[in-house]
Amino acid sequence: MIPAVLPTYARAPLHFVKGEGSWLIEADGRRFLDMGAGIAVNALGHAHPDLVAALTEQANKVWHLSNLYEIPQQEELAARLVEATFADTVFFTNSGTEACELAVKMARKYWYEKGQPQKIEIITFDGAFHGRSSAAIAAAPTEKMVKGFGPLLPGFKPMKWGDWDAVEAAVGEATCAIMIEPVQGEGGIRPIADADLKRLRQICDDKGCLLILDEVQCGMARTGRLFAHEFAGIIPDIMMSAKGIGGGFPLGAVLATEEAASGMTAGTHGSTYGGNPLGCAVGIAVMKHLADPAFLSEVARKGGLLRQKLEGLVAAHPDVFEGVRGLGLMIGLKCKVANVDLVKAGYAAEIITVPGGDNVVRLLPPLNITDEDIAEAVERLDAAATALSAK
Ligand SMILES: *Cc1c(COP(=O)(O)O)cnc(C)c1O
Repeated sequence: MIPAVLPTYARAPLHFVKGEGSWLIEADGRRFLDMGAGIAVNALGHAHPDLVAALTEQANKVWHLSNLYEIPQQEELAARLVEATFADTVFFTNSGTEACELAVKMARKYWYEKGQPQKIEIITFDGAFHGRSSAAIAAAPTEKMVKGFGPLLPGFKPMKWGDWDAVEAAVGEATCAIMIEPVQGEGGIRPIADADLKRLRQICDDKGCLLILDEVQCGMARTGRLFAHEFAGIIPDIMMSAKGIGGGFPLGAVLATEEAASGMTAGTHGSTYGGNPLGCAVGIAVMKHLADPAFLSEVARKGGLLRQKLEGLVAAHPDVFEGVRGLGLMIGLKCKVANVDLVKAGYAAEIITVPGGDNVVRLLPPLNITDEDIAEAVERLDAAATALSAK
C-alpha cells in the first residue's frame, strides 16, 4: 500500500523533535551535531532567538497579505538586499525552483522586449541543480530528474562544466543567457575558478547575452562573502537566492539589475505567498546578521578552521577520503568509500552530513557554529571514518 506521504524521498530513520543552535535532538534523546543545516537552510542554526522573535512578533500582527496591497516587510527586505548587492530590484518567491522559473522568464522577456525574440536559449552545465519545476529540470536534465516527465521545456542547452572554450563557441544568435552556480552544491561542492567566472561574464558582454547566477545554495554568506560571485569581482544580470535567505522559513528571491528586469512590468509575474509578511520579517532578521562584515569575516575564519582540521582528518584516513574542497562553510569531502556509507556512519556517531554528487559528503553547518562545535564535528567524523575503516 502506498504510504500516506507520497514516497518520493529516501528518508533516514531519524526523528528530530527539537533544534538548538547547531544541534538537533532525536526523539530518543540523542543529540546530533547538525553539519547539514537542512542543506544550507538554517543559516543561523535552530531556534535563533532573533528569528524566533521576528516570526512571533509578526505572527501576532498579520500572517498573510495579498500582493494586491503594500507589504512593508517586503519593501524593507528588498531595500536591504539592494543595498548589500549588485541588484537594483528584487522579487520574492517561496523556494529556489520558483526563483529559477522567474530568472528564466525574466531573461527571455528581456530580449523579447529588446526586439530579439529569437534569443530564448539558456546555456547550463552538467552537475548543476536548479530545482524541480519544469524549467529547472530542463536546465539540469539528469536522467533521474527528467525520465518520464517529458516533454522537456525547450530552450536549454546543457554543456560540459569546465569547457569554457566550447561555451564561448556555442553562444550565438539564439543565446539568451548563461546560467551557472558559482559553487555547485548538489553537484558535489564544485567552485568555478574566479578567472573562469570572469571569462563567462566577458563572453556575455561581448556576445550579448545575460549572466544568471544560481546562488540558492552558495549565497547568503555561505562562502564567507554575502554572495559567492563577489570573489570573482563580477556582477550577474540576474541572480537566484533561497535556502539560507529565510533561515528556515520558506523564502526565495530573484535579484536583478534594472536593465535585466526591464521586461517585467505590472501583471507579467506574481505569486500568492511570495514575499509574505512572515517570511520577510524573518528574512530581515537573517539579513541583519549575514550582511554584517564582522559576521562574514567570522564565517571565513571558521571555514578556514574547519578546512584545516579536515585536511588532518583526510590525511589520517587515506582509505576513506580523497580530499577536501569548497569555500567558507560550504565544504565537500571527496570520498573513496561510498559517500552514503560515510553519511550513515556519521548518524551512528551522531553527526549529520549531506551526500552530494561526485561521491562527495557535504558539510554545510549553521554559519554561526562555534569553534568548539567545529572541533567536535571533526572528532565525530573521525569516529565515523574509523568505524568505516574497521569494516
Ligand atoms: C536547493 C537548490 C535549488 C532549488 O531550491 P528549492 O527551494 O528546493 O526549490 C536551486 N538551485 C540550487 C543551487 C539549489 O541548491
